[in-house]
Amino acid sequence: MHLKSLTVKGFKSFASATTMRLEPGITCVVGPNGSGKSNVVDAIAWVLGEQGAKALRGGKMEDVIFAGTAGRAPLGRAEVTLTIDNTDGALPIDYTEVSITRRMFRDGASEYEINGNQCRLLDIQELLSDSGIGREMHIIVGQGRLDAMLHAKPEDRRSFIEEAAGVLKHRKRKEKAIRK
Ligand code: ATP
Ligand code: MG
Repeated sequence: MHLKSLTVKGFKSFASATTMRLEPGITCVVGPNGSGKSNVVDAIAWVLGEQGAKALRGGKMEDVIFAGTAGRAPLGRAEVTLTIDNTDGALPIDYTEVSITRRMFRDGASEYEINGNQCRLLDIQELLSDSGIGREMHIIVGQGRLDAMLHAKPEDRRSFIEEAAGVLKHRKRKEKAIRK
C-alpha cells in the first residue's frame, strides 16, 4: 500500500486543481519559501480527517479554503482527494485503488467520499484503522521539529521517540497514577 496521488483544489494556496503523483518510497517536495510545500502535507492530514485548525497551521478551519490573492478572488470551498494504491489488499475494501475525498464549504460543513460515494468520517477512519494511516496513526513531523529533536537534551529526545511510538500517553497515565 502506498499513496498514489493527491489532488488539491481550493485548498490553501492551491486555487486551481493540482494533482501530484506519488511513487512508492520517499517523496521530496522542493520549492522556494512560501510556495506551498507545507500546504501539501496539511492537505494529506486534512483529507484523512484532521479536525484541529491549529494542526493545519490556521486559526479556524475555514482558513484551509483559498482566501484569494491580489489577482484572484477567494473560493467558496476546498477539496482534497488522496488516492491510495491498494493492490496488496492492505485496506479491507474490494478495490485496488481507494480514493478518499474531503470537501469543505465556508459554512464549515465537510463532506467525505470513498471512491466517489458519500460517506461519514467514521467510515474513512474505520477503513484506515488497521493500515497505519488515519487521523492519529500516521506521524507528521512538523517544520522545525526535526531541528528541535536533533538539538534536544537526551530526556527530551526520549519523549519525542516515545510520542512517535505511542507510549508517551501511557507514561503520562502511569505518572499520574503514581502521584495519586
Ligand atoms: P517554507 O519553505 O517557508 O516552509 P512552504 O513552501 O512550506 O514555505 P507553505 O507554508 O506551505 O509554504 O505556504 C504558505 C503560503 O500559503 C503563504 O503564501 C500563504 O499565504 C499561503 N496560504 C495559506 N493559506 C492560504 C489560503 N487559505 N488561501 C490562500 N493562500 C494561503
Ligand atoms: Mg514549510
